[in-house]
Amino acid sequence: MSKYQSSDAILLRAVGYGEGNRIFTCFGRENGKFSAVARGVLKPKSKLKGHLQLGNRCDLQLVNGRGLKTIASAVAKETYAANREKAEWYFYMSYFLELFNDFLPEDAPDENLFFLLDAVLKSLGDTDPPLLARFFELKLLAAAGYAVDTEHCAVCAKKLNGGFYDTRRSVLTCENCGSGMVISPKAHFALRYLEQTDPNLVSRLKVDDETKSVLFTLNKNRIEHSLEKKVRSLEILRKAELD
Ligand SMILES: [Zn+2]
Repeated sequence: MSKYQSSDAILLRAVGYGEGNRIFTCFGRENGKFSAVARGVLKPKSKLKGHLQLGNRCDLQLVNGRGLKTIASAVAKETYAANREKAEWYFYMSYFLELFNDFLPEDAPDENLFFLLDAVLKSLGDTDPPLLARFFELKLLAAAGYAVDTEHCAVCAKKLNGGFYDTRRSVLTCENCGSGMVISPKAHFALRYLEQTDPNLVSRLKVDDETKSVLFTLNKNRIEHSLEKKVRSLEILRKAELD
């Protein structure tokens, strides 16, 4: 590996490290997920500070050492400014970054996922946040290898028009074959739409509150089944979305 490297990256997470330093988890367009330390970034005079904000897309100059990479310079090229205007949007942005970080392994570059995150962060200000969240969750589940067949019953292979979600096995079944969580035909249609659409077309889907609630519970179940843990922001989102 050469000593110097540049990266067009979105900042997913930051933790404090030593005095005035932070370690950033980044997702690079070309190099996937990696960690790098920004030295002195918490000091008042740091030139990096303004650029290295969570959720920013930055041009980073990195120095590869024996241990962690170091961020030598950073220029924010996209701050998705709208997401910082409302507390609700900021919260969803934080959730998207957390989920993306949780689902994707280090050193597995994927340009499509990079642009998916970029597009979702750009769409947040003019799309219903809960629906955009369901869309993003479905894309990440599929990308991480946890796709579920939503077209056919997992038992008899009949074409589905609603049915059940079997929470234990994480599969969909028709009304004759299964039991578990009821997926109404309306919720099934919304699920199929969100799986197949693009970020900028999410807002064309109109759903009632009951459908929203089914989609929330379904995805939450699938995420926790896949990650084998609870996602912190999802617990908070649940409260916010039900208000
Ligand atoms: Zn069946």
